[in-house]
Amino acid sequence: MAKQKNTKKQKKSKTNLDGSAKSQAKFSKISNEKKEAIGNVVRELVAEEAIQIVLYLIGKTKVSEFTVANDLDMEIHKARNLLYRLYEQNILSFIRKKDKIKGWYICYWDFNEKSIPFLSIKIKQQKLAKLQDRLEKESNSTFYMCKSACTRMDFERAMEFNFKCPECGELMDEQNNARTLEFLKEKIKELKK
Ligand SMILES: [Zn+2]
Repeated sequence: MAKQKNTKKQKKSKTNLDGSAKSQAKFSKISNEKKEAIGNVVRELVAEEAIQIVLYLIGKTKVSEFTVANDLDMEIHKARNLLYRLYEQNILSFIRKKDKIKGWYICYWDFNEKSIPFLSIKIKQQKLAKLQDRLEKESNSTFYMCKSACTRMDFERAMEFNFKCPECGELMDEQNNARTLEFLKEKIKELKK
């Protein structure tokens, strides 16, 4: 009797590259302007290292977090952390599906591209509000600075210290903040563009 040959099929764990080439093509299609906008929003609201995740998801849909981690050579915990932080900012969305074989839930991620222009505007407005707030303070107060430049404070606070530097005891001088004002005005003008 012929013995059945034991051909053990060694299933190599396939390196998951779901349409990597395809996505590469799509990825290169997006304009530098768009890439820059994505970068700015993600850097501002999440983290520099999250940018690659968003760029990676362009042109893809329902990518499992394991695939993201694998393709970007990232630890799964790290990838998950960044993915959820992107989700909190509405930059990504996900669906959860139970894996039939493993029995656990896996999240599948999508890039919510429409959020970027909206978030860009929101960031700009917040920055603008901060700068205008600072400009108002700078315009409405006199500032005092230590000769050795240890401290700088407004009139009210300087008075509390009898105009003596709390760091070195040196007398503080009134500081001409014309250059600061100029700088702030310039920044505001730039943002308003
Ligand atoms: Zn000082």
